[in-house]
Amino acid sequence: MTEQPGEAQDLEVLDERLRRIAAETLQREGLQWFSGEPRLPRDPDRWICFLGTGGSPRCMLTQVAHTGGFMINLPNFALHVDPGPGAILQANRHKLDPTSLDAVFVSHAHTDHYTEANTIIEGMCRMMSQRRGCVLAPGEILDGNYISPFHQGHGTTTGPYRGGPATTLALRDNQPVALGEVTLTPHQAYHGGENYGFVLDYHGLTIGYTSDTNYVKSYRNTSGQIQEASSANRFGELADLAEIVDYRHDLKEIYSQVDILVANVTFHNMWSHRHLTGYGLTHLLTGSRVKQCFITHLDSTYFTNPGLAADLAAYITRKSGVKSQVPVEGTRYEL
Ligand SMILES: [Zn+2]
Repeated sequence: MTEQPGEAQDLEVLDERLRRIAAETLQREGLQWFSGEPRLPRDPDRWICFLGTGGSPRCMLTQVAHTGGFMINLPNFALHVDPGPGAILQANRHKLDPTSLDAVFVSHAHTDHYTEANTIIEGMCRMMSQRRGCVLAPGEILDGNYISPFHQGHGTTTGPYRGGPATTLALRDNQPVALGEVTLTPHQAYHGGENYGFVLDYHGLTIGYTSDTNYVKSYRNTSGQIQEASSANRFGELADLAEIVDYRHDLKEIYSQVDILVANVTFHNMWSHRHLTGYGLTHLLTGSRVKQCFITHLDSTYFTNPGLAADLAAYITRKSGVKSQVPVEGTRYEL
């Protein structure tokens, strides 16, 4: 008899079907999670993939661009950075396998950066069945249980969910963390709360991540006046900027020396007291040795106004001379 869902079936047949299919499916698929292998075969290629290019509360709440962070894949090492809302949905949509992860990095305790850390850690630890991988986050995130104690590795030691991260580390400014063939060095960001970007080094290939940070401290406007980057200005606007006068020298020194830079920009010239801005990024990239820059964490403004994200990338590329782009979500860019 053909199995068909529906009320017409005999109750006993329905019961048998429900029991049999659940048992068969769990036998076939459930054991996969406990097998010690990732769900999808490990990808040996070197790439970066964005699960979202949006940032800021407006973009997070509207999801006009997504907020799942990004994933770096290297031979034998996979890292998820800043899994904000939608991370697991976007990972599945783009066939990015959280069970292949070796580390999860959370930069700071803002919702567009940490909200789905527990979910992604659960993937890394293969439904919390295995003890594996590393969680890297500021002490503020760990002590404040923004990542739950269970997902920090303080769970049960018995039963099927006895897994968790093998290591959970509180980030410290300029203190390198060795992760197999990769070294990740956190660098303090200036944004509110404890917050770190990083430089990742893989056999001499360096990838920088700014996290959310301010950069421009003061500038000269077209009338010749020196202005501070400040919340006292309208939306922290850098108005009529002629020239940047003072800026975060440490950030320029660190991130101008990497091969690939992931830059959280948010706005071209607004919110400068909290964010890098397009002006700031242009300054950082000018004269740098960066070969390619990925612009991400943009406000919804750049997606609700057609072409504005591409215009911002074009401005930064032309003015700095460094190839800069707002990546297409889900595309694997070779490293
Ligand atoms: Zn933030």
